[in-house]
Amino acid sequence: MEQTKQRKKVPRAMQIFIALVLAIIVGLLLQKHADFATAYIKPFGTIFLNLVKFIVGPIVLFSIMAGVVSMRDIRKVGQVGGITIVYYFFTTAIACAIGLLIANLFRGAFPVLETSSLTYEVAQSSGPMDVLVNIFPSNFLVPITEANMLQVIVMALLIGFAVIAIGEKAEKAIDGINRWNTIFMKCMEMILALSPIGVFCLLCPVVAANGAMVVGSLAKVILAAYIAYLLHAVIVYSATVGTLGKMNPIRFFKEMLPAIMFAFSSASSVGTLPINMECTQKLGASKEVSSFVLPLGATINMDGTAIYQGVCAIFIASCYGIHLTPGQMITIVLTATLASVGTAGVPGAGMIMLAMVLAAVGLPVDGIALVAGVDRIFDMGRTTLNITGDASCAVIVSNILDRRQARKAKKSE
Ligand code: ASP
Repeated sequence: MEQTKQRKKVPRAMQIFIALVLAIIVGLLLQKHADFATAYIKPFGTIFLNLVKFIVGPIVLFSIMAGVVSMRDIRKVGQVGGITIVYYFFTTAIACAIGLLIANLFRGAFPVLETSSLTYEVAQSSGPMDVLVNIFPSNFLVPITEANMLQVIVMALLIGFAVIAIGEKAEKAIDGINRWNTIFMKCMEMILALSPIGVFCLLCPVVAANGAMVVGSLAKVILAAYIAYLLHAVIVYSATVGTLGKMNPIRFFKEMLPAIMFAFSSASSVGTLPINMECTQKLGASKEVSSFVLPLGATINMDGTAIYQGVCAIFIASCYGIHLTPGQMITIVLTATLASVGTAGVPGAGMIMLAMVLAAVGLPVDGIALVAGVDRIFDMGRTTLNITGDASCAVIVSNILDRRQARKAKKSE
């Protein structure tokens, strides 16, 4: 019954795709009226994104709590966390290496831009110890009000562990957590029904404002980044999803399309979280795994951002006539991997962290001004890759756990 009802409707992926194509066409037509698009179309995109941001905090809090209490075993949560973190760091380092490789191949084709008058105000970026301290909340409400996902995750884990530790006496709390989780999920479903409108209103002003700029002097740098994004997705995710996840990569990318298009339009991993959860669950990832792995990934796993940082480092170095040594390249891979942990899943965050990567190898931070104007175009691609990486992890971890469970069940037969 439910299925026939769904079949009649245009699938969400198709709706978003139509919105995306329309946004590009209308955006190109409005290039001379970019101010109009920014003043009157963008606000509707902002309203939609606000609604998504509103629901993300409670969704992460309750879905992780529900996931943890349903595992009923603190060790199992530890296993999931361990595999997830290793996968995230490993793939991010590979991503940055691919970015550096492609950028080096493109180096000769990169434009050499004038650098003498450049200035870039470095946002106050924090060191590794600050990143560590900031993971732990000092207040019950602030993590939610500030949408600080890492702190929300810590909160959800602590409360979830407490519920497990209390055991039977917490049955009512478990029931409450599950009920609230269902309510917020429904709320999210209602908001996501608006996603085609959101995608159109977010993307159209960006195309209107940047359309002509893409063909400008930075086209080759952008192209290098997009080739690296694509290679990483096709080679690394296909391999990991196919081998560790035991899933046909084509099916994986096909089911991921709604989330991919949404990430491309919104440039926000955190904003894409609800739709990413929907896609991975359709792919068969268990709810308990995806509700833990995806919010964590939206906060600490940024493969696209690492590629962008590698490509930009090479481009900026070439504009300043600096040749990077292999040692410096390794430093870029390490710092970009660490920087991705501190990069928030919101538009433009990766550019702020680029300062940390450049500083680590002694490149002039002012060089960021060279790429700042087209950051949104880099950002759309890097966010798309970021969330695809998170989803690949959810599929893999879910499969590993399923197989372990099946083995255990067989043994005990
Ligand atoms: N916008 C990216 C994301 O949300 C972060 C970045 O700027 O690199 O994943």
